[in-house]
Amino acid sequence: MGPNEKQTIQIIGGGFSGLIQAYYLVEAGYSVKIIEKRDRWGGLIGSVQKGDFFFEHAANAMMANRELERVAEKVGVALVSTKRAARRRYIFSNGQMKRWPVSFAESLPFLSFLLQRKWKSARHAPLPDESMRDWGIRSFGVGLTDYLLSPALQGVYATSSDQLSASLILDSLNNRPRKGQLRGSVSPQGGMQEWLDKMGHYLQEQGVEFCFNAPMTTFDFRQPTVLAMGLQSLKEAVVTEQIPMPASLSDTRCASLTSVSLGFSAEEHKLSEGFGCLFPKPEKFHALGVLFNHSIFPGRVAAGASETWILNDEKIAFSRMSSAALLRYVRSDRSLLSSSWTEPDAMSVAQWPQSIAVYDAALAQFIMDYQKQKWPFLLMGHYLGDLGLAKLLFHAQANVEKIKGGYFG
Ligand SMILES: Cc1cc2nc3c(=O)[nH]c(=O)nc-3n(C[C@H](O)[C@H](O)[C@H](O)COP(=O)(O)OP(=O)(O)OC[C@H]3O[C@@H](n4cnc5c(N)ncnc54)[C@H](O)[C@@H]3O)c2cc1C
Repeated sequence: MGPNEKQTIQIIGGGFSGLIQAYYLVEAGYSVKIIEKRDRWGGLIGSVQKGDFFFEHAANAMMANRELERVAEKVGVALVSTKRAARRRYIFSNGQMKRWPVSFAESLPFLSFLLQRKWKSARHAPLPDESMRDWGIRSFGVGLTDYLLSPALQGVYATSSDQLSASLILDSLNNRPRKGQLRGSVSPQGGMQEWLDKMGHYLQEQGVEFCFNAPMTTFDFRQPTVLAMGLQSLKEAVVTEQIPMPASLSDTRCASLTSVSLGFSAEEHKLSEGFGCLFPKPEKFHALGVLFNHSIFPGRVAAGASETWILNDEKIAFSRMSSAALLRYVRSDRSLLSSSWTEPDAMSVAQWPQSIAVYDAALAQFIMDYQKQKWPFLLMGHYLGDLGLAKLLFHAQANVEKIKGGYFG
């Protein structure tokens, strides 16, 4: 490579992770090539319009932070905050949706934890291999854990709290990006697809080369490479291509998610106004929760009710089920919230087998092993310690710093 020649970095995977990695590499002056097996960028994320209804197929929002706002402005995305109504978040308890689903007595240990800043005390530090549920019970008791902490975690990690590693989750919560102008959940005005499209076009203008329909099957690590292909594809590639990786990768797991979005033209079918409702495990729901899309972001639903039900495969294989069968399960869940039922005017289903990393002890071990030594490539994705999209920006920045520091020689 000549003295004025830019180093080229190849990125495998053109989902949110691959694109944001490309963004920071370009900003740092590298030449970038993205290899994507499908015919489009975006990976899991995608927004669809079905008649009068607009639905998201995976992520519907990102947590606002200063860096996210800066990048959005640079690529021409206008971020919007949620509507006022979305401040109301519900958890189902005792036959109804509640904003605070536990009694005053059950809340006391939690209030004292907050007021006395007990998260700094050694007694509340997670024990080795402790699950979030066990940590919650030890810190707050069973009632608050099963009806507040666990449903809240389920809304983010899509996995039962008894499978989540306390040290991994609490570490990630401690890691808070700097605040910007906006607060809470944000989204591009035109939905999550707009982020990807504007980012993709911006990168093309900056000279990034996209190779679509190009599944990477042979990995040549003589070319500096960032693998941004999702955890499951990485695990498969390690087996078929014998990519050097910590052995602990094989113990990591992915959860399968399904989103079922329904649109009802008549206002009377709205379940409620608010962000949505989460369903504690002891309750008789099949879904993890439901989002009330009509109340979340402005300009998405002209009239009527729009909702997205999120299900995982912990008990039933929803990610492989027909739409008709899924609708029967959702209808049964819906009957626990409302006695009225009509066939939806619009429906959209997205099934994502093995799509989201389970934040368990095996993943914690893998992250530790990966960080301990240098590999012939860098990784990028939601399975490296922070699940939320907005925090992936910081992982992408950290990779650029490593590359600048000579990671690839
Ligand atoms: C139902 C659901 C709801 C969610 N809600 C939220 C939310 O509200 N907020 C939030 O922050 N997050 C949310 N998430 C998580 C978020 O959507 C994901 O973490 C994120 O989209 C993952 O992006 P990624 O680029 O890492 O992986 P992916 O989107 O999986 O992209 C990986 C890409 O790599 C490509 N690829 C794989 N193998 C190869 C190969 N061999 N060669 C070339 N290309 C390859 C794939 O085709 C794909 O395009 C949600 C996820 C789901 C499923």
